[in-house]
Amino acid sequence: MLDALPPQLPLWPDDNPAQGWAVRESRRARRLAIRVFHTGRVEVVVPRRTSRRAVAQFLDGHRAWIESKLSHARRHAVVPEPFPPSRIELSACGQSWRVHLAGGSAPVRARAIAPGILALAGDSSDARQVRRALRDWLAREARALLGPALADCARDMGVEYRRVAIRRQRTRWGSCSTRGTISLNGCLLFQTPQVMRYLLVHELVHTRHMNHSRSFWAEVARHCSEHARLDAELLDGWRRVPSWVFGET
Ligand SMILES: [Zn+2]
Repeated sequence: MLDALPPQLPLWPDDNPAQGWAVRESRRARRLAIRVFHTGRVEVVVPRRTSRRAVAQFLDGHRAWIESKLSHARRHAVVPEPFPPSRIELSACGQSWRVHLAGGSAPVRARAIAPGILALAGDSSDARQVRRALRDWLAREARALLGPALADCARDMGVEYRRVAIRRQRTRWGSCSTRGTISLNGCLLFQTPQVMRYLLVHELVHTRHMNHSRSFWAEVARHCSEHARLDAELLDGWRRVPSWVFGET
């Protein structure tokens, strides 16, 4: 690990030092490389024993590229959300919930007390407990909403599947096993209705084509003509997932 370069050397004297940037020495690196993270942090990976001068020159040479990456990161930055959230949007099903802190001393639970009002009843002083309560509620909503949505979609397409499992995963939106079990990520609820439907179509077509062959995509296209755009949107869909879903437990 090398120290970050002194503040007078960096290219962006007014950049946020808290996000900052760092130079990392790597034994495996053969040449200098720059990574710009979506948080705005810049990391320069350098082979061992690279001089500071070489790093500074390299950065100078890539200034325009880094700045364009940084401005992209700023435009797409995830705004930190207050916790507990005041609203939860389950856009896929057009549901909007206002979160009401109902108070009390019992272990905290999240439950709907009126249309569009989700009460956090009980002691909400421990953020971990509140997160858990919200996740339990999300899991119940996902089972209640995604299962029927999949069934409807399968009926429209004339496709059969064996059963559905709802999961909360960080890395995949859905899958289809060779035995016909379709797994859906509960976080689909935060996507647009079109994106959710695309994912359902995608997994249902996998019951017939267990691959991403031409025939697979041709059948997807028959049921969802905008699949390419929606697939790209889904890839970026993690940004729509509130931080409490995967935040520290
Ligand atoms: Zn697939």
